[in-house]
Amino acid sequence: MRLPTFRGGIHPPESKYLTENKEIETLVPRGELVYPMSQHIGAPCAPIVKKGDRVLAGQKIADTGAFVSAPVMSSVSGTVKEIGNRMTISGALETCVAVESDGLFERAAPPRRKDFRKLKPAECIKIIREAGLVGMGGATFPTHVKLSPPPGKKIKWIIVNGAECEPFLNCDNRLMIEHPEPIIGGLEICLHIFPEAKGIIAVENNKPEAIMRMSGELSKRRGKIGVIPHKVKYPQGAEKMLIYTVTGQEIPPGALPAEVGCLVLNVSTLAHIWYAVTDGVPVLDRVISVTGDAVVSPKNIIAPLGTSVRELIDAAGGFSREPARILSGGPMMGISMRSIDVPIVKGTSGILALSSKSAPTFEESNCVRCGRCIAACPMGLWPSALDRAARLRQYSVFEQNGGMNCVECGSCAYVCPSRRFLTQICRDGKAGVVAERKKQKEGSAKR
Ligand code: SF4
Ligand code: SF4
Repeated sequence: MRLPTFRGGIHPPESKYLTENKEIETLVPRGELVYPMSQHIGAPCAPIVKKGDRVLAGQKIADTGAFVSAPVMSSVSGTVKEIGNRMTISGALETCVAVESDGLFERAAPPRRKDFRKLKPAECIKIIREAGLVGMGGATFPTHVKLSPPPGKKIKWIIVNGAECEPFLNCDNRLMIEHPEPIIGGLEICLHIFPEAKGIIAVENNKPEAIMRMSGELSKRRGKIGVIPHKVKYPQGAEKMLIYTVTGQEIPPGALPAEVGCLVLNVSTLAHIWYAVTDGVPVLDRVISVTGDAVVSPKNIIAPLGTSVRELIDAAGGFSREPARILSGGPMMGISMRSIDVPIVKGTSGILALSSKSAPTFEESNCVRCGRCIAACPMGLWPSALDRAARLRQYSVFEQNGGMNCVECGSCAYVCPSRRFLTQICRDGKAGVVAERKKQKEGSAKR
């Protein structure tokens, strides 16, 4: 059977075997947990607790009045030890609240059952905002904002992103296998918010057990939800690719999925929507694949947010050899980490430790005009031309060539025989365009 997919894309080694059959294990953290104020796209939060305060698990410790933002909760009970700058998973210094756990995990509010069907859509969205929900596939866009499309935009499709196309990662896969009920429950809540929409669960075809478990759970229910297996191809899980694959529609440059009547939500986000709305439980933990050939015993672990990466690696048996690269996320879109003494956050889907054999370093050489990057680009861009424009700081040329549509998927750099740093240069080009626009705006404001 020919499975639906998008144009372009690549087939890197999947390397899923390390953790795909590993059941999710629970990690109980020791000592200090650290909560950065910006675990989402949008305005950072400000602490609402002070040093010495006792906090409970699930208690809000930081918030802001900005719409595009999400509050931060303590994932344990204990005492606020420090508020100050700490290094985060991206390597940046950021204001963080550090809580010394008392090991009791005393809850701020005990779980309670609620029938979401008796709630108004606006009430559901408010609960989701107060639960601190963001896109847990890594994008970290606040979920209540996603669920509030501009007036007049009708949502016709709610697409569940179960593609997990990044090599090595299995946190979404295992969640679908072990906990399909809250994922489908979360989707039903979203369909309650948008009653005219249809639910589609999109899973890459290399996850047969997940497809079976999700389909099995659906067969027990009635409703407008279907499971669609997709062709295995990177970056199938990118929002734009998923929308194209499911609906055949392209999102106009700079527009949001709501423009074409779509909403895309990751499986972990949906499970947390269910826990938030029906049980009153905010986002306190997440599943993470701790994997790679430099880890003794790769695993899928559920850990409270704020736990240090070092503790997760210890829980996976530590390093088996000197890692050449440690990434937060997968090998294609993950961020290289400078330290493992940093906390996991809402968007941390994987910790990947690679040996020098798996992550060799390369020197760049000149473009040989082979065109492979053009064939691989899922956005239909001309990466070598973007590379040239960005390096020459010709930001208007970069923009004219559609550079701002780059989804930074890494496909072009992966296929380039000259090992050119195409993705990094595109990222720099986009930052250059933004800086240029800001400069022009400030210039015209002064005039
Ligand atoms: S130009 Fe951007 S979107 Fe296209 S392949 Fe490269 S990184 Fe991906
Ligand atoms: S793949 Fe590399 S060498 Fe080939 S055209 Fe693109 S930038 Fe040039």
